[in-house]
Parts: sequence; C-alpha cells; structure tokens
Amino acid sequence: METKNGNYVRIFDTTLRDGEQTPGVSLTTEEKLEIALQLDKLGVDTIEAGTPVSSEGEKRAAKEISKAGLTAEICGLARTKRNDIDVTIACDVDAVHTFISTSEVQMKYAVNMTPEQVLESSIDSIEYIKSHGLVCEYSPMDASRTDREFLKRICKAAEEAGADRINIPDTVGIMIPTTMQQLIRDVKSVVKVPISVHCHNDFGMAVANSLAGVEAGASQIHVAVNGLGERAGNAALEEVAVALNLIYNKKTRINHAQLYETSRLVAKLTGMQIQANKAIVGENAFSHESGIHTRGVTVAPSTFEPIKPEFVGRKRKLVAGKLAGTSGIRAELEESGLHPTKEQLAEIVKTVKELGDKGKKVTDADMLAIARAVMGKVVKEKRIVDLTGFSVVTGIGVIPTASVRLVLDGKEYVASETGFGPVDAAIKAVQKLTSPLVNVRLKEYRIEATTGGSDAIGEVIIKVEDKDGNVVSSRAVNEDIVMASVEAMIDGINKSLLKSRNRKK
Ligand code: MN
Repeated sequence: METKNGNYVRIFDTTLRDGEQTPGVSLTTEEKLEIALQLDKLGVDTIEAGTPVSSEGEKRAAKEISKAGLTAEICGLARTKRNDIDVTIACDVDAVHTFISTSEVQMKYAVNMTPEQVLESSIDSIEYIKSHGLVCEYSPMDASRTDREFLKRICKAAEEAGADRINIPDTVGIMIPTTMQQLIRDVKSVVKVPISVHCHNDFGMAVANSLAGVEAGASQIHVAVNGLGERAGNAALEEVAVALNLIYNKKTRINHAQLYETSRLVAKLTGMQIQANKAIVGENAFSHESGIHTRGVTVAPSTFEPIKPEFVGRKRKLVAGKLAGTSGIRAELEESGLHPTKEQLAEIVKTVKELGDKGKKVTDADMLAIARAVMGKVVKEKRIVDLTGFSVVTGIGVIPTASVRLVLDGKEYVASETGFGPVDAAIKAVQKLTSPLVNVRLKEYRIEATTGGSDAIGEVIIKVEDKDGNVVSSRAVNEDIVMASVEAMIDGINKSLLKSRNRKK
C-alpha cells in the first residue's frame, strides 16, 4: 500500500529507541512490550524496539516485541558494525536500522574515521543486512550538517548497496522548513528509494521540519509519542499524525482515536509528564475557559475547535474560572445533571468569579460543590436566621474562641464561645444564640477538600437534629473551612426552623 500510493506517509515510531534516550527515562522489558502493543493498536508502520547491542535488557525487549505477533514492522538499531548487526538480527527483528556519522565534525571526533572509511563501512553493513534477507534502513547521521556533495555520494552508494529506505536525520535539530525541503530535494535528485526524515526539536521545529520533508518528497517520518527523545526530543507522533491527516490530506495507518490513550500510557510508564498546553494530548488542548469561547463551542464547536476532540480520543472541557461565562457554566452543570434556576446560576457564576479573582483555580470538582451548596440553600427571603458577622481566634497558647453576630427574626444578637478548635467554638456560638428558637443538635459533621492543594475549597456537609428527632442535612462551601462550617450550620438551622414552623401551621 505504502509504496504504490504516493499519498501515503509511513510512520516510523522511535519511542522505544530515541524516546528511551530521553534523559531520565528507562523502561523495563515489560513496559517496552506494553508500549509496543499499544503502538501496534495505534497503527504505526514500524516500531523501533531499541538498540539490542547496548544491553541484555534491550536485547530481551527487542526479542519479546519481535515475537509478540504484531502487525507493525519491528526494527532494531545497529551501528555499521558486524557485531551490532549480528546481535540485532538474533532478536528476530524484521528490519535493521543502521547508522553512522557523516558530518565532518562527527566523523572526526565521534567515530574517528575518514569519509572513505565511513562510506566503506556503510556499504559493507547494508550488504551484510541484505544478505540476511532483512529490510535495511540506512541513516547518514547528522545529515543536515554533512557536506552536501558527500551526503549525495553516500546516499547513492547506500541505494546501490541495497538499502530499502534512506533516513535523513537532522540530528541536532538545526534545520528550518525551507532548508529541510532543499536537503530532501538534493537527496532525492540522486536516489529513488523511499526517503525518511528524523528531526529533533532543539529549536521547536521538529514537527514543522518533518512535514516540510514530506512536502519535498519524503515518504516516511520518524516520530516519538509525546515528542520524547534526546535533548528537546523528536517530532511528536500525535502532532505529525493529526497534521498529516487534517492539514496535508495524507494517508497513514494511524487510528487517531487511540492517540490520547497512547500518550497517557507513555507518560505514565516513562514518568515524563505532558505540559498542559501541549498540542493534541495536553490537558488544556481541548479546554475552553473564556465566556466567548465557551458560548461559541457550545453552539457550534467549529467556532474555536480546529480539531474535534473525539477525533483524537478526547473530550471537550469547559473550565470554570473568572473568565467563564454563564452559558459555559450552565452547560457544564447540565452535563453533570444539575439544573439551577436563573437566580441560583447567577449566584454560582458570581462565586466562581470571586474565587478566580482571588487567584484560585476553580476545578470541576470545586464548581460542582459550589453548585450543590447554592442549589440546596434556603433562599434569602425565607431565612429566619442569618449571619452578619463572624470572627475566630486560634493558635498555640490560646483557647479557640469564636464570636458570631446573627439576625434572628429581624433582631441582631451577638455571642462568643470557646471550643476544642475553631470549628467547635464557632458552632457552639451559633447554637448559643439560636437555641431559644430551635434547639438543634449536630448529628453529623463531614468536611471534604474538593482538590488536593492547600488552596482547596472546603465542602462541609452536616446533619442537624431538633428535639423532636427531625433530621435535616445541609452543606456549604468556602475557601475558609471555619466559614463553611458556620454557613452549613446556619443553613441547617434555617431548614429545621422552616420545617417546624410549617408543621405548626
Ligand atoms: Mn535521534
């Protein structure tokens, strides 16, 4: 399919080879196999399983992946050395990717060979791989800094020696799209075998340069999941795949709906977290916060979404925050089955924005807690007891003391109480003032943090029981847990009072 169709771009995945060369990343055989299975499900054409000669673990991983019965071609990396190639072939791989430095600086200081020795070594290795009946991909390493005439000469020699594909590495990531195009055109002017590109992201242009290579006639791209790889990494698989499909109208075997899951698996197993604003797979890639955007995507997704989230296995997320609009918040609440009235919605939006202005990142969990509290609250007109003032003192060497000021049936009262802690003191002070009206007992008290940080919003859920055994529950949220406790208590007392007055009527 890939050779006949000029519109087809092969995806050569090097997550398990160059990706594993990411500083700080090391995978076990089992982890490499798990990633390989997912890459096969994703539909990459080649899985570069590792560099077998480098360690026993690498050898074992390449063997395990080779015998896993995958659809993808399994490839191992080898220097242009017979021993490297023998060890790689012994892993039962389908293809050997052999490479040697061809730039002046690397020939001189990295491999200590003359250009003629490099040329001979390349030819010998390619012929050796082909004599074993395996697919051979050849890379003149540091091609982008290699003398152009020498590069053309060595590529032509590689083709004549039987290389099935020639890969052009921009090893140190110094190309830009226009120079990359010229480089590929120059190589293509002397060889007919398929050309591949391998771009590094040192200047943040790995994906752009890879696509420029395709524009100039390359038919394969080396990629790594989440853009892993040496230094700043390789071209990101997910970005390349989606751009090829949606912008370039090229064909690949990639099952795009598997992209997010693949990214998550690789992030988990390598421990390399993905930045939130990373294209396609970042936390924020399909999130909208500002009012104009959330309203837009709710009505017509194409307004602010160049890629459908479902296409890459994701979901749209509307984020509540100070920039959020009423319709965005309503849409998100409705998705969770909450249908606030117009007044309740206005109060929820106001609370969210106030928190945002204080610098708090309002999460989904925060917003749902706020909505539940607002929607369950006794409305202002019906409130018999209301809080008008509150203070608390706590610390080392002081007895926690709370003072509250309440309006009870239109009259204001003040009281102070001490307690085991600030919450206990505050609730006692509220009870002291309200007990002549309604004698309630705190039956249950629960506090939950909606998120993990120290700036989490506290959600207090309580149950109060009056002297006749009637139980009501109430909840409140606040960034201050003592305030949330007092608000929940006041709300519970109001509910209890309303119930008893209704019964008396
Ligand atoms: Mn590389």
